Amino acid sequence: MEIIIAEKAGYCFGIENAMKMVRDTIESGQEKIYTLGPISHNTQETRRLADQGVVIIEDGDVENLETGCIILRSHGVGKEIIDTINQKGLPIINATCPFVRAVQKKVESYDAAGYQIVIVGNKDHPEVVGANGWCRDKALIINDINQLENIESYDRICIVAQTTIIESRFNEICGAIKSRVNEVVIFNTICSATAERQAAAAKTAKEVEYMIENWYYRRGINTGLDR
Ligand code: SF4
Repeated sequence: MEIIIAEKAGYCFGIENAMKMVRDTIESGQEKIYTLGPISHNTQETRRLADQGVVIIEDGDVENLETGCIILRSHGVGKEIIDTINQKGLPIINATCPFVRAVQKKVESYDAAGYQIVIVGNKDHPEVVGANGWCRDKALIINDINQLENIESYDRICIVAQTTIIESRFNEICGAIKSRVNEVVIFNTICSATAERQAAAAKTAKEVEYMIENWYYRRGINTGLDR
């Protein structure tokens, strides 16, 4: 049996970078290392880190920490959590992917300028929850064109994308909002790593009989094959 590994398989730049920051922190001798959520979805990798003393915590656990350093994972977190960590005087290692940080900055600045923020994405995805935390949790989070009820009641809207959302869905939702709202500013913040992996998955799917999906499956990317 021939096994073909899709081009671009493996960690994207953002996760690779976050993993390096965790490894560097371990090697620095830092005691008590926490990550806000798992740094990677790779179970073996998170187990390896756990064996080296890295503890995964949730946002709500931050209040109870008195010592140790906290690593923010590539998906990022809301501003309030960073403020809480700073108030406690705990060191932060910010492994938020620069592409995700760019989304957060746009959300924060356009919210401050009076725009209603729309995030096209999955409301439960940590990256979306984090980005929403840069506009006081007031964003409209839309994942489907049927969720645009009353959208015309907003005069000015700024749209950003979850970095891993499918581009055609983003364009469809943006088009519908543009046709119904007076002023719309659109930032296509979809990460090229996602588009590249979508293309690689689609290409590989045409070449093989069966496909074992991991990265693609978790992100809801349809390769056209039965799973
Ligand atoms: S934005 Fe792109 S590079 Fe950054 S973590 Fe997400 S998929 Fe990876």
